[in-house]
Amino acid sequence: MTSPLLCATDLQVHFRVDRRAVVRAVDGVTIALETRETLSLVGESGCGKSTLGRALLRLEVPTGGTLRAFGEDVTTAGERGLRTLRRKASMVFQDPAASLNPRVEVGASVAEPLFVQGVGDRASRRARVAELLGRVGLSPDDAGRRPHQFSGGQLQRIGIARALALDPDVVVADEAVSALDVSVQAGILNLLMDLQAERGIAYLFIAHDLKVVELISHRVAVMYLGRIVELAPTAQLFGEPRHPYTRALLSAVPVPDPRRRTARAQLQGEPPSPLDPPSGCPFHPRCPLADARCRAERPTLITDATGHATACHRVHE
Ligand code: SF4
Repeated sequence: MTSPLLCATDLQVHFRVDRRAVVRAVDGVTIALETRETLSLVGESGCGKSTLGRALLRLEVPTGGTLRAFGEDVTTAGERGLRTLRRKASMVFQDPAASLNPRVEVGASVAEPLFVQGVGDRASRRARVAELLGRVGLSPDDAGRRPHQFSGGQLQRIGIARALALDPDVVVADEAVSALDVSVQAGILNLLMDLQAERGIAYLFIAHDLKVVELISHRVAVMYLGRIVELAPTAQLFGEPRHPYTRALLSAVPVPDPRRRTARAQLQGEPPSPLDPPSGCPFHPRCPLADARCRAERPTLITDATGHATACHRVHE
């Protein structure tokens, strides 16, 4: 069995707001991204998905726990120690327009990771850019155009071309299709899946559209207030959700197949502030099953023999 590409153990990313207040954006996450898999992270806005994605690429510095990437401990590594991670992992952002310099031709933006890593000379980088633009369905001639000359879907293809420049093993896609029309979304998703089949890329796919997540993921992790509360193979998570939070999230998704409709579990109230998380199980103020133990004792994430992990006292009674 090969070791995971990225592996976080009890990872924490806390942000100090002032002398007394700390935001626990990621609060003790253990997760591994395996070769050639698509692992999706879902949960309400502000649950810590994006911070976890950035932390797994060491774009955020962990304040606790450990992070291993491609076999190396990079928890506290400096830029020199992060060289392998920077070369083998990249990110696709939600808003490609914001991540591209409007004054720079897109060819230069796509070539930037090659330039930063000192890969090739000017001619070979130009050839690589032409190849990448072609692979994402654009013309090599587009290299000379500026971002404002492209549609949203084309800009996301340029963002993907840049993310692929160094032929990564891992791509973190943070809401990469959320801002796109449904038909454009389908084209980008097909492109991502084709690239996985061709190059064996592993994706950490951060999304809130559960229908998309079900379609493309091998496993799904559900986050709530900086923690993973359920993680399972996709069919298990959608077919047999165990955590009350997951059940509430899924019941909000329209299901065309009447055999899969379950009693709707309404999600009550707003998520609590990560500045002041509730005692015990962080979901207890919104959970219809909460009891005294839930209010006092934090459940741990327990994995069963099928690989289905849940952090809930009721599931493990
Ligand atoms: Fe609900 Fe208790 Fe389970 Fe938390 S531990 S999800 S409050 S039943």
